[in-house]
Amino acid sequence: MDSETALPVIEHNRRLERLLEISRTLSASLDLEPFLHSLISAAAELTNCELASILELDEGGDQLHFLALPRLHQEPLKTVKVPLQASVAGWVFQNGQPLVVPDVASEPRHFKGVDQVANFVTRSLMAVPIIYRGETLGVLEVINKAGQPHYTEEDLTILETLASQAALAIQNSRLMSKVQHSRDQITQLDRMKSDFIAIASHELRTPLGLILGHATFLREVSQPDLRPQLDIVVQSAMRLKEIIDDIAKMDNVQRGTASLRARSISIKRLVEEVLVSFQLEAKEKGLTLRTDTGQGDLQVEGDSSKITIALSNVVKNAVTFTNPGGHIFIVAGSIPGYVKISVIDDGIGIPSKDLPHIFERFYQVESHLTRKHGGMGLGLSVSKMMVEMHGGRIWAESVEVRGSSFTILLPINSAQAGAASQVPTT
Ligand code: ADP
Repeated sequence: MDSETALPVIEHNRRLERLLEISRTLSASLDLEPFLHSLISAAAELTNCELASILELDEGGDQLHFLALPRLHQEPLKTVKVPLQASVAGWVFQNGQPLVVPDVASEPRHFKGVDQVANFVTRSLMAVPIIYRGETLGVLEVINKAGQPHYTEEDLTILETLASQAALAIQNSRLMSKVQHSRDQITQLDRMKSDFIAIASHELRTPLGLILGHATFLREVSQPDLRPQLDIVVQSAMRLKEIIDDIAKMDNVQRGTASLRARSISIKRLVEEVLVSFQLEAKEKGLTLRTDTGQGDLQVEGDSSKITIALSNVVKNAVTFTNPGGHIFIVAGSIPGYVKISVIDDGIGIPSKDLPHIFERFYQVESHLTRKHGGMGLGLSVSKMMVEMHGGRIWAESVEVRGSSFTILLPINSAQAGAASQVPTT
């Protein structure tokens, strides 16, 4: 190869190497503004032009504005609009095709407004569309090629390569702002929901307290023939109170306003207390309710009111979903570092398709409309939150028609709390 043909090849290889090098550094940059800034510098350098810029569509949709400019021109040009109808960039944007203008003086589409504001003289330019999946996002242009204003095929390829990188970056940034916008909306909705729950539960509690108080009083003093009706009023008001309490508890935990008042508690005693609170209901329904808490004391560091709520919700479900004549067994024991409480019933069981969802908020196996049992589908999600606040776990196993088994695993102290996920669930 003689030196005349070797020169362009060396030059070609050097530009490709430089393009590769620039592409590598570009892909490391995450923020759109510095990214596009580096990209226009690279475009000017690799095409041997005075400067480069990127334009994108304005909100109104009939003009373009600059998205990236060399620092020198940033101030004067940041508010300048380029018309879609009477400019080279506008033509490229609308047609999705590149355009090379070796001499702007003989190009009627050239828009002179930019030069006037920037105090600059454009002599030649080359512009390519920035396209992402068929959608034109903007235009990348290089201005005033040094020496002969002769833009080569290679210049065009380089500019198109850089434009495709710009397309990815612009699209990513748009997606990121959409995600951020959705996040902000979710946060706002969540705040509104929490405010609504806080206000509603507060406003409902006061009149409900009055209904309960007066109905209980009337039940005491009324004629025996009115008692059954008043019993229903009291029971329904109690049920409403439980629902409001459940919603408020869950919201407190979610907002992080619930705090643990941890002290040393005896799970043996706690289980006995829960048993006693359901004994009457179980007896009336013809259920056998038993416990086995072994020999030891089963101490854990925790908040007894929250563990009581967690266990009570599980036992309450066992009582609700076990048919008369059935059995409920609460077993508690210790494994190294943990106390395990299982509530086992031989009730109606849970279909396997529903089992993975029962700890979700408002999830109920029966449809709301055909439901025989009360409840809001909140009990187990509250239990889960209370247990997880202790660094523990809760899970369920069930076979339809045969029965269910719910297990609560509580760390004996906060040092154990992080490792509960490693304890096997069988
Ligand atoms: P709810 O307060 O409506 O009972 P939960 O969150 O406590 O809601 O329970 C969710 C659903 O899981 C219940 O509606 C019920 O269908 C099912 N479930 C919970 N415990 C049992 C159980 N021991 N036996 C059968 N189904 C159960």
